[in-house]
Amino acid sequence: MELRSNEFKARAAANLGDAKLQKGLGLIKVKAVVNRANAVAEFGDFEALREAGKAIRNRALADLDLYLERFEREATARGAVVHWAENASEACRIVVAIARENGVKTVAKSKSMVSEEVGLNDTLIEAGVTPIETDLGEYILQINDAEPPSHIVMPVIHKTAEDVADLFHEKHGTPRKTDPAALTREAREILRPKFLSADMGVSGANFLVAETGSTLIVTNEGNGRLCTTLPRLHVALTGIEKVVPTLEDASTLLRLLPRSATGQAITNYVSVHTGPKHIDESDGPQQFHIVLVDNGRSKLLAGEMREMLRCIRCGACMNHCPVYQAVGGHAYGWVYPGPMGNILTPSYVGLENAVALPNAATMCNQCGVVCPVKIPLPDLMRKLREEQMARGLKPWPERAGLALWGWAAQQPALYALGTRIAARFMKWLGGSEKLIHRLPLAAGWTNGRDFPAPEGRTFRELYKARRK
Ligand code: SF4
Repeated sequence: MELRSNEFKARAAANLGDAKLQKGLGLIKVKAVVNRANAVAEFGDFEALREAGKAIRNRALADLDLYLERFEREATARGAVVHWAENASEACRIVVAIARENGVKTVAKSKSMVSEEVGLNDTLIEAGVTPIETDLGEYILQINDAEPPSHIVMPVIHKTAEDVADLFHEKHGTPRKTDPAALTREAREILRPKFLSADMGVSGANFLVAETGSTLIVTNEGNGRLCTTLPRLHVALTGIEKVVPTLEDASTLLRLLPRSATGQAITNYVSVHTGPKHIDESDGPQQFHIVLVDNGRSKLLAGEMREMLRCIRCGACMNHCPVYQAVGGHAYGWVYPGPMGNILTPSYVGLENAVALPNAATMCNQCGVVCPVKIPLPDLMRKLREEQMARGLKPWPERAGLALWGWAAQQPALYALGTRIAARFMKWLGGSEKLIHRLPLAAGWTNGRDFPAPEGRTFRELYKARRK
């Protein structure tokens, strides 16, 4: 996927004015946010569950090498072939080599963010292999000239049913229909024969279970199960951080993942894949390959962003982020949008290639509050902001302004005087309306809305008055 994260501001501004996109994004607030809140309330002690999830992920990361070795041993003992890919090109090379060795012409793909991350589809096409996305959202994007997803769980949230109706009418040559059930049926009729004729299925993995050597995926459409059992080969492509010690651990995380993602107690399908088809089994692939992708994860493990590796890709942080809710996923310019992307993208592609992202947050900590594995997302973004300053990646007026503010904040008398003047000046600017239409030196705050004028006294003055 083409990296365009440094275009964040321009793309965000364009998306703010896109009425159709805003309508789609509004659905996140009414659906994902409310559904999660209901599911959490129904569960009972969700905080304890979050603590348990955090502990499991921390345990796995503390001994990642040992758990990965155990996973490889157990998976191999059950007939799977485990491959290790240091980076994106190696991951693609491994999958293409498997396809070539086995005369694969078509690949049925289940949803996999790692395959987006490594750019698998383009590489397969270059190698003469046709990838077919089978998740409904991903299929819609693929036939729309390989448009990238805008959300990690709801990849096509930026499109309306009307958009899909036009697209299917144009690409399938069928009569235009707008009923979502009819559109789904149409996609299903097109995809069914493709499942049956595909030579290879590619899936991701939500978790890797070290004690059994199994990969585990969750889906709502059942396409994942068809991709992983019907073709004669199954390739699971996933990041090395997905390993958990035991099946019991995976089941604990399964209580967190769907509730946080969509508000479901459990997804429609939970599939555990352990080795290829056995001699006494009627379904399953003849070969099962697992490609474990590093692509920057080891570097994260050894650094300040380590906690980010706990991520279980639920999407709750983006659903609750006021910035994501306003600008949508494409503004972030790479595979991972929202708060998790604000950390993962600079970590994987280099901070200089995603300078705006750690700042694409209001620091309200909604993301940290809902993250099922308690990743302190605002703290990590703050660390990246510090690195931006230290490396001189921000424009000089911003650096100079912050340096001046930092110096003034250490001079209590001067700071108190400065804030007194500023509070009174802003009150005057607000006039009788008590609204500032344009903030001097900070026009970004008022370009899209009015700024409520302060009442003319600083916090310290108000605090002192109240104590009296
Ligand atoms: S950072 Fe947390 S909330 Fe965001 S996708 Fe990952 S696990 Fe979910």
